[in-house]
Amino acid sequence: MISAGALQIIGAVAVLGVVATAKLTFDAILTPERAALGLAPALLALALMTALSGAIGPLQAQQQRMLGERVSQRVWDRVIDRTARADLVDYESAGFATTLERVLQNALTRPFAVTTALFGLSGGLLGVVTLSAVLVGFEPLLVPLLLAAGLPAVLLARWASRTEFDLATRLTATARRRTYLRQLLTTRPYAAELRAFDAGRSLRRRHDVLNGEVNAAVRDQVRRRQLIAVLTTLGVAAALAAALLAIVELVRVGRLDLAEAGAAAIAVRLLSGQLSGVFTALAGLVESAPFLADLDRFVTDGRAAPPAGQRRPLTHTVELRGVGFTYPERDRPALHAVDLRIDAGEVVALVGENGSGKTTLAKIVAGLYEPHEGQLIWDGEAGTPPADVRASVSVIFQDFVRYQMTVRDNITLSDDQRPVDDTAALSAAHRTGVLGTSDGLPNGLDTMLGRDLDEGVDLSGGQWQRLALARALYRDTPLVVLDEPSAALDPRAEYELFSDVRAVLDGRAALLISHRFSSTRLADRIYVLDSGRVVESGTHEELMARGGQYAELYTLQSSTYR
Ligand code: ADP
Repeated sequence: MISAGALQIIGAVAVLGVVATAKLTFDAILTPERAALGLAPALLALALMTALSGAIGPLQAQQQRMLGERVSQRVWDRVIDRTARADLVDYESAGFATTLERVLQNALTRPFAVTTALFGLSGGLLGVVTLSAVLVGFEPLLVPLLLAAGLPAVLLARWASRTEFDLATRLTATARRRTYLRQLLTTRPYAAELRAFDAGRSLRRRHDVLNGEVNAAVRDQVRRRQLIAVLTTLGVAAALAAALLAIVELVRVGRLDLAEAGAAAIAVRLLSGQLSGVFTALAGLVESAPFLADLDRFVTDGRAAPPAGQRRPLTHTVELRGVGFTYPERDRPALHAVDLRIDAGEVVALVGENGSGKTTLAKIVAGLYEPHEGQLIWDGEAGTPPADVRASVSVIFQDFVRYQMTVRDNITLSDDQRPVDDTAALSAAHRTGVLGTSDGLPNGLDTMLGRDLDEGVDLSGGQWQRLALARALYRDTPLVVLDEPSAALDPRAEYELFSDVRAVLDGRAALLISHRFSSTRLADRIYVLDSGRVVESGTHEELMARGGQYAELYTLQSSTYR
């Protein structure tokens, strides 16, 4: 910052120097007998000053780059803080996603533009003040003449700014869809299916249509901006011409001698240049203002950071009473009046057809969603803070994350309340069969995983799933929620893992969601969900004897196997 300021002052001094040495040069040419310096030294000084003032720009550009990087980091930090504070359910609402996208698209460039503009503005203003002071010495009227060109420029900039923000708001949805298509068309997870279905061409056409929409919108805006640029330049040129004509007139009436007129003309030209810089910077600031306001609204919006949750033991039971939940922008509740109980150390299973609400329920039990009706009661305490619930439950989802990191990271990322514990990580890895199998990993916990960053080994779906399970177990919580933990396992692997699920869980209670009745029939209690309601519950034997939905689904599944 200090060296940036020093550069600006040197820049202003150099501009003054150019005017002063120009006057000396004119004196040396026109009135050599009265000149303070000879022509050669005066010219040399002029050249030096011109070079100095020219060198400031590139130096400042590099300085700004550094500052720009810092500003961008700071902005990213705030965006990341904001998203960390967001509730999971915020991500389900379209408004949040769209704002986030718009902010992400502008968060990186706008603050940098503002930094650049501020630099330009402060440097320019310094130049304007010094040059104006010089010109006032020649003829005070010259200054307002040049300044007058600025007013329309700033008004035009405000108009440009509004249209720019409107454009960005209108294009966000299109840009999001285009970004998604670009990801589909270029990145690894989609490469195989796109080729297998030869779907690349049709997706590419959709991408091109979006490009066309963007082009049309941008073209209109560019026309508008070009018109504004022409008008601004014309204004500045007119003011410059008027000032130069005024100087000619001043010479004619004898108020300025020729050397003074030459220096004044140079000062006018320089001032006009500085003023253009100032107007451009002002326009940049004005243009960025609505984007920055948008960014600011986003990062300061939302609730305060949730307090870190306290991990609680589970001595008796976790209970859901009359729980209802509706997703944002949905009319039909995903869950309605759900009662459910998980006792300490119990394995409770949740079955039901797709869309019956199992995953939503799992997220409520894990404290990720707050129920809209009813409540979650932990060990008899109603109104347990969701942060505490989150801290006391481990979850593995169907679409668990495949961290492109080491095996150790993949397991220990689930618990930052204690230092990385290799013994515990190894124990979790062995219990779930990540390590110690025939297709063992070359470097144990240090094995780098994933192909996305181009440095790791890839795992089979089943191995990734075991790893996810190990991650859930490493986090030492009294309750584990397992959403389809065996979908990617083959029947033998599943049998091995779940025939002794209690040993794997090592005393933890579990809420187990699975489509495979072979895994769920061993549960202490089974809840059957249908359209967001619990329609049956009991042990496997009880439910079979009842002959209801569970018995029907179970019989259906076992007959397919037979
Ligand atoms: P399951 O896990 O049993 O397949 P889910 O809990 O995923 O069921 O879904 C329950 C209901 O909630 C479904 O009708 C589904 O369409 C709806 N739903 C799930 N996730 C969302 C979401 N993010 N936004 C809106 N509706 C959702």
